[in-house]
Amino acid sequence: MPDVSVNGAELVLASGNAGKLRELADMLGPLGYRLRPQSDWDTPEAVEDAPTFVENALLKARHAAAHTGRAAIADDSGLVVPALGGEPGIYSARYAGRHGDDAANNVRLLENMADLQGDDRRAYFFCAVVLTRSPTDPAPVIATARWHGDILRAPRGEGGFGYDPLFRVAGGELSSAELDRAEKNRISHRGQAVAALVAALES
Ligand code: IMP
Repeated sequence: MPDVSVNGAELVLASGNAGKLRELADMLGPLGYRLRPQSDWDTPEAVEDAPTFVENALLKARHAAAHTGRAAIADDSGLVVPALGGEPGIYSARYAGRHGDDAANNVRLLENMADLQGDDRRAYFFCAVVLTRSPTDPAPVIATARWHGDILRAPRGEGGFGYDPLFRVAGGELSSAELDRAEKNRISHRGQAVAALVAALES
């Protein structure tokens, strides 16, 4: 199995999402990890049919490792609104029907929350990150994290992607689309999960 615990290790990134790719490269690049997208090996998208973020991240990482013969890292993430029974949850990317249609997803979220007020507008982003050294790695490294906030009534900010313009970060007034890139990467669900994964790898 490849040694992924040293700086300079090459990891296949099991994602085609440009926003996530940029964020993960920003976080792992300075630590010496070189990321290559699974598309470099013409890897087809994995079928994400598991009911939890962790399981979906695991199956995506395994799928990429199987197609490329290399260590692979995958993240599965999304927005959870407890007052909506956990929606959009694992369906975050395709909440309005078409995968990756951020604008339509945001409209649907606002519509479904139109009657919700106060604490019912609370939400969190969840991220699971998995690193598997091979498709049969019996001990993949798994890290998860949550990022708390609430859902605004209208989009704000130009940065980030997905639900960022609607997510007001707990303890402040800014939406996550109004944070600068480095700040978001430091405090977000993905930033926290990647930091935990790296700590586990290097311990
Ligand atoms: P995945 O690619 O299956 O993990 O789906 C992730 C989806 O969750 C994205 O398409 C976004 O809709 C949402 N999401 C995950 N992380 C973020 C984030 O940091 N900001 C905004 N939306 C996010």
